[in-house]
Amino acid sequence: MTRQEIPYKIYLTESEMPQYWYNLRADMKNKPAPLLNPGTHQPMTAEELSGVFCEELVQQELDNDTREYPIPQEILDFYKMYRPSPLVRAYCLEKKLKTPAKIYYKFEGNNTSGSHKLNSAIAQAYYAKKQGLKGVTTETGAGQWGTALSMACAYFELDCKVYMVKVSYEQKPFRREVMRVYGASVTPSPSMTTQVGRKILEEHPGTTGSLGCAISEAVETAVGNPGYRYVLGSVLNQVLLHQSVIGMETKIAMDKYDIHPDIIIGCAGGGSNLGGLIAPFMGEKLRGEADYRFIAVEPASCPSLTRGVFAYDFADTGMVCPLAKMYTLGSDFIPAPNHAGGLRYHGMSPILSQLYDDGMMEAVSVPQTRVFEAAETFARVEGILPAPESSHAICAAIDEAVRCRETGEEKTILFGLTGTGYFDLVAYEKFHDGKMDDYVPTDEELASFRARLPRI
Ligand SMILES: *Cc1c(COP(=O)(O)O)cnc(C)c1O
Repeated sequence: MTRQEIPYKIYLTESEMPQYWYNLRADMKNKPAPLLNPGTHQPMTAEELSGVFCEELVQQELDNDTREYPIPQEILDFYKMYRPSPLVRAYCLEKKLKTPAKIYYKFEGNNTSGSHKLNSAIAQAYYAKKQGLKGVTTETGAGQWGTALSMACAYFELDCKVYMVKVSYEQKPFRREVMRVYGASVTPSPSMTTQVGRKILEEHPGTTGSLGCAISEAVETAVGNPGYRYVLGSVLNQVLLHQSVIGMETKIAMDKYDIHPDIIIGCAGGGSNLGGLIAPFMGEKLRGEADYRFIAVEPASCPSLTRGVFAYDFADTGMVCPLAKMYTLGSDFIPAPNHAGGLRYHGMSPILSQLYDDGMMEAVSVPQTRVFEAAETFARVEGILPAPESSHAICAAIDEAVRCRETGEEKTILFGLTGTGYFDLVAYEKFHDGKMDDYVPTDEELASFRARLPRI
């Protein structure tokens, strides 16, 4: 195809839209390890999990075999509000970088929550409603997940209780207020409203909180209130299943124009956007039908894949959640305050962890100031103001494109642009004023957290 024939933005028509979520686990020879009961160390049963999660989501969580899940009509209807998301050819960035590489990005920031998280939030709210529940509890870091969930809960008229990591609650009042517009109640974490919160505050007064700690509080609240369940915005298998809608749309759009990506890049916090974007492509690789390079990009301050270990660990700081086998830094690892709040989780999706361990995927880590440099390069030529999380993927995509300039290779690079950065302007301000640091944990620090991993 000539340059003119591929549009600047590729959209799908309603009839081309994916009708299924794709369950990557069905094509994995080495399945992700099961979640374990933290007390008995036995695999969690559906019955045990359904005390915490909605029934249909439990079934999805445990299902390693069903390849396709039809997306319920109510969810398809909601998706129509903001999907398809555009697949954009970054002509201006290519020109700026003087690269022979072709760069595409899938932009998930075109909804009020400002990120891809709405794709799973609406699914989880739907199943909670279907089960007749009163409401859901959750945690949020930077606030994107809480915002997405509050929108989804408002749509299905469910109550929504959000524990927000304290540092974000204080630094990001705007996102907090967006959640309240959609009817959610927002509590800074750690808080005095739960046992685990009180314990953490006693041991670490003055802590700015962490995602792991907020998870513990949300789980305790769900388990302690009849008619409530806990929902999680990343890491879990069910979330990657819902997020496969990103990759399905991308694949359909690329197939339509006969585009074959060589390299697929995504930022990785808990792994949901990356897992969703790569799903159908990774499926082809696993089935031996095509080959791609996949790159996970994480912050140098929270390097779960590149410097963590593949082991069973607690999903939360309070050690009440099931144990997951994943690349982890240790559940009590609290990363240095980093402006990509959505990437501050100590662990990683068990699916992506398994694929990484099997050599199916690569990972790189990048320091914060390089990420913001990449964000600005991108914003100035492509127009969109990217979220700091998304900018990790931009940074790695630029690195690959620059490498192509040096070697003369005309590679096709695809990356996930997960969200917008309007609520992250304090971080941009620090960057502009030269006040941003690039803290990277030492080997000794990481070893001390690793020594505290549970022995399974
Ligand atoms: C939450 C978030 C991420 C990271 O979460 P994953 O589960 O790893 O996808 C990335 N980008 C944005 C904009 C986010 O809000």
